[in-house]
Amino acid sequence: MSAPLLHWIDGKAVPSAGGTTRAGTNPSTGGPGAEVSLGTADDVDFAVRAAHGAAKGWRHTGSLDRGRILAAISRRLLADLDELAAMESADTGKPLALSMAEIRGAAEYFEFYAALVNLPVGEVLDIQPNLHVYTLREPLGVVGVITPWNLPLNQAARACAPALAAGNTIVAKPAESTSRTTVALARIGSEEGLPPGAFNVVLGQGSEVGTAIVRHPLVRKVAFTGSVPVGQEIGRIAADRILPLTLELGGKSANIVFADADLEFAASEAVRAFTTNAGQVCSSGTRLLVQREIQERFTAAVVAATRKLRPGHEVGPMITRGQWETVRRYFRIAAEEGATAEVGGGVPLDSELAAGFYVEPTVYSGVTNDMRIAREEIFGPVVVIIPFETEDEAVALANDSDFGLVGGVFTSDMSRAIRVAESIEAGQVYINSWSTQSVQMPFGGHKHSGYGREKGIEALNHYSHIKSISMRLTGR
Ligand code: NAD
Repeated sequence: MSAPLLHWIDGKAVPSAGGTTRAGTNPSTGGPGAEVSLGTADDVDFAVRAAHGAAKGWRHTGSLDRGRILAAISRRLLADLDELAAMESADTGKPLALSMAEIRGAAEYFEFYAALVNLPVGEVLDIQPNLHVYTLREPLGVVGVITPWNLPLNQAARACAPALAAGNTIVAKPAESTSRTTVALARIGSEEGLPPGAFNVVLGQGSEVGTAIVRHPLVRKVAFTGSVPVGQEIGRIAADRILPLTLELGGKSANIVFADADLEFAASEAVRAFTTNAGQVCSSGTRLLVQREIQERFTAAVVAATRKLRPGHEVGPMITRGQWETVRRYFRIAAEEGATAEVGGGVPLDSELAAGFYVEPTVYSGVTNDMRIAREEIFGPVVVIIPFETEDEAVALANDSDFGLVGGVFTSDMSRAIRVAESIEAGQVYINSWSTQSVQMPFGGHKHSGYGREKGIEALNHYSHIKSISMRLTGR
């Protein structure tokens, strides 16, 4: 048996203060997975102090040098792609090609923000002749980065790259089931020139390590990606501490398909929208709103494309046993609510997959927007199809949700596309595609999907303060 995964603190691998570990599970086989150290509040304190100690030096490292280090991390992620992707797929069960795409995306975060180290800029304000007034952007200090298990390395990079670019130092906590690639990222950071303490990782349970990060008085911001209930819990602690947060939470996003759309392409995009990463994507398109006149034809196309996706091949398992149980519970709820499973609705019968956490890609019809399966995030490869008559009704249905993360519109009428896109209450809307996401596009939610923004130049504003400085001038 291999040694347990250790924390990464102050530039080196460190065992837990408490010495306890957690045995992992391989989601593809149900067999043993990676064993991971379980941290305590003492480990968090050690890591936060290391990050605090490194903060001044990192902030005052010349911006070109900081940029060079971030660019070197990006190149290393690509150089180590095979090894990192194998690690990610072993922890999550996702197809290797998907892990590779996610790690290339992680490299892009570092590449993009490497070029923006000088961008959190201020300006000179012309107020009156005897005053020299300017603003500057300064880092916040130690940033806590808490991430979920669905895109482990990619989501760690999404927050860590802009936080480091803006001059902050980091204490990251990955999900306990998928910790390996975040530790690898911190190790690569150290090897490529980050000073000791600039990027620390503490492993362990959310209730212990995550909470200790949010509560630590030297942590000056938390970037949290995860579920709504945990986001709310963090928000309550943050309220007492007046701690700034970025909350990237769940979604129940709508793809709206009008009768005049390119239906063949829309169907393939609609299927990609709810089956990528076996539906374990916050921006999944899990409500498919279809204009009534094409409902039958379009449903048939979606069902046909879904049938081609085989669990264990194109579609990986649920990443945790808990998530597998959740999705199966929603299959029962769907049946109780009277929805019709056009395809799927259970676990695959293939005996080779029996021990893994697999579910069938599933399309439900006979659904109304007030059913639980239309309102609650399932986080599996499950879509509900809901018909609509008019543009207004489609927008009202899309917005009748507690969530507001992303949305999609498929139509050949570009005026309508823009009208609808601008009416959807969500942080990103895609026209005639699903999830054309890129590092340059700000990303984040409305309503229960969270607040703050990751990605783009915008994210840098969430990892820095603006300060105004005025100086009285004499002799004028
Ligand atoms: P989760 O909220 O259970 O866990 C997320 C992280 O928080 C984990 O590292 C966990 O250990 C930690 N945590 C748990 N309890 C904590 C506490 N009390 N204090 C501090 N940290 C704590 O979420 P999950 O089940 O791992 O992930 C799935 C959820 O993440 C889904 O709702 C999904 O939509 C959401 N998500 C959102 C985005 C986004 O960008 N908006 C991206 C990916 C996933």
